This record gives sequence, C-alpha cells and structure tokens, in this order.
Amino acid sequence: MVIDGFNQKELESLIEELSTYGGSDGRGITRLLFDDNWIGAQNWLKDMFVQKGLDAYYDDVGNLYGRLEGYDTESVIMTGSHVDTVVSGGKLDGQYGIIAGMMAIEYLKNQYGTPKKTLEVVSMAEEEGSRFPFTFWGSKNIVGTVREEEMTEIFDENGIGFKEALYKTGFGFNKKVDDKEIEAFIELHVEQGGVLEIEKNSIGVVHHIVGQKRYIVTVDGEANHAGTTPMGYRRDSLHGAARMICEIMNKAIEYGDPLVATTGKLDLVPNTSNVVPGKAVFTLDIRHIDKHIMNEYIEKVMSLMKEISEEMNLGLDVEKYMNGDPVPMDENLVEVIRNQCEEKGMNYRMMHSGAGHDAQIMALKVPTALIFVPSHKGISHNPEEYTDLRDLVEGVKILIETLYNLAY
Ligand SMILES: [Zn+2]
Repeated sequence: MVIDGFNQKELESLIEELSTYGGSDGRGITRLLFDDNWIGAQNWLKDMFVQKGLDAYYDDVGNLYGRLEGYDTESVIMTGSHVDTVVSGGKLDGQYGIIAGMMAIEYLKNQYGTPKKTLEVVSMAEEEGSRFPFTFWGSKNIVGTVREEEMTEIFDENGIGFKEALYKTGFGFNKKVDDKEIEAFIELHVEQGGVLEIEKNSIGVVHHIVGQKRYIVTVDGEANHAGTTPMGYRRDSLHGAARMICEIMNKAIEYGDPLVATTGKLDLVPNTSNVVPGKAVFTLDIRHIDKHIMNEYIEKVMSLMKEISEEMNLGLDVEKYMNGDPVPMDENLVEVIRNQCEEKGMNYRMMHSGAGHDAQIMALKVPTALIFVPSHKGISHNPEEYTDLRDLVEGVKILIETLYNLAY
C-alpha cells in the first residue's frame, strides 16, 4: 500500500483545535477528568467522529468511540489514547493518538471502503491521575478492572468526590463490561523521552512497558549539636542515606540499561545547618522490563541498605507504595508492526517504554501494541512538548499500515 493524499495540514490543525479545550490561557493544556474543558473536548471529538463518517458513542464511564463497522462484525480492532492531560500539559500527550486514530480510520475508509473487521478509535476518559488520585479510569473500565467500592473515598483537591463528579457529568459505572470482543488495541503516543530523537529514528516499536516499583525509605538517627558531637558519637541519618543512595546508583549503573533507579525526593528532619540530621526520608523509583532482574536488583540494594544501617546504628524502614510488573506487548502485533516498518523502509527502532500508558492496562485482557514518535529533547508533561510534523505523519502512516493489515 502506498500512502499518498494524506492530509498532514489537517492533522496539524485538528491537534491545534482540540488543544483549545483547556489550553487557552497560554500555560499549556489543563484538561482534567469531567471538568468543562474535558466535556468540551469529548463533545468536539464526538462531532468530529461523526463528520468523518464514524458512528460516535459514549460508554457508561465517559470513554468516547468512533466506529467504522466491518462486514465481519464479530471483533473490533481498536486504536486511540487518552483525552485528559496533566496540569499545564502539552498538545500531543494522549490527544495525538486520538486524532491520529480518527484520521487513519477515515483514510482507510476513503481508500478501501468497508473493512472486514470493525475499526474503532477510542478517546479514553482518563489516564493521568491529574484530578483524582486514581489513574487509568478509561482503560481500566474497558478491561473491566474497576470496582465501584474502590471509588467511594476518592476526592479531588477541592474536596469533590469522584462519584459526585462522575454522576454530575451524566456518566456512571460500567454496566456492560466485556460486551465487545476487542481483537487488538494499538496505541500511538509520543515517546516522552529522548531516545528516538538522539538515535534519529521516526518510529519506536515498543516491545515492553517497564515495571515500576516505588518506595519511601526512612532512615532514623539522632538529631544532635553540630559542634559538640564528635564524628564517632553521631547517628547521622543523612550520612547513612547518602551512602545508601550511592550504593543504589552504583549498583544500577553496574546492571546497566534498561534498569533505572531514581531518588528524586529527600526530606531531612530537622533540616537545619547546625544540627546533625535526626531523620532522612527519601524516595526510590526503580524500573525495568524484566521482573526477575528487577527483583534481583531490589533484593541486593535492600540488603546493602540494611548493612549500612546496622553498621551505622541507624533505624531503617522501607515502605513500598507502587508495585507494577513489566508488561510485554503482544508478540504477534509487534511483529506485524515491525514487518510493516521493514517493508515500507521506515526509520524505526525497537524499544521499551519507560513510562506507563493505557496500553499496559489494555494488555491485561487484549492483544496490545504501542508505537512511539519522537519527543523533541524528550520533553513531555510540559507546554514545550513538541514533535516535528514529519514524524507525526510517519506515526499516522504506520498506524494506517497496521490497521489495514489487521482489519482489511
Ligand atoms: Zn499519555
């Protein structure tokens, strides 16, 4: 298939137009689940889906779909991404995948008519967890893993309950989980990292989404006078924490890619210049695509931390608050996309995703793949988020090829 006549100007202008919902104050886009900008964006997309000749409909929970019915309607090939943003987000995270999916399906319809299998683009209600402390509301409902009970004690920063916001918008809980056989889900998304740009690739075919484990580490010592406490008599919590962090980083470097370990937050008590720190609390974020290697690394750093705390007579408490396993993408779909890239001579690479995406939730129930386009300087979750139009178009092209391959 040769893709010509694809309207790249329209791709650009539709992204701009959708960006006005939540992006009119010059500080990026802020479009939070069920707020006015969110409602505006979903309704605008619904109109667009209709204009493009798709059947547009919402599910019970606020996901929006544009459907091109196939003549073998048993199963659905789905593409899309999330419509919500972070606070002051960019114009591509999430919504690029929706616009691209809509345009890809429109292109296929115009060129090849009715598909064998039904094609759907989905604008998922929520992914980021920006308004409520709950992530993946959209995709978790599609695969049916949300329990109503878990949504009762969830509030936004203004004290509005999740359920109240949900019902006020006219949506509710999912009454018809699993009523649709999704044969494949393909998400197109910006990389949000710098690998593709540095390596000068236009397309990233993702084989795994990393697992993430996050911890809060508390090191307890004794606050004491900085002048009168000799070094040998101190129980310096920060000295202990610093040694631990060095070991954690050195070990991560020794393991090498794709393992990453980050301490991004450190709090000291009392946090003053002339007192030996009595307590040091730091975060630890560890990611890898292989569960066993990740667990082995974690075991090693946990025992190194324990050794240091014992040697320095410090208390140590480690609390795990995120425990996500790596998620492999569907091997067959990855192969289909990779073959399309090879055949069409696209400038691509195989890679993993270091960030979480709806694809990792969908993959729990549905064969799923994830395709990246470059992010300039790796910047995302920021108004500066940018991808060259040529690469955005390359992304839609590989999506068109893939959907054609799967649905026609
Ligand atoms: Zn995203």
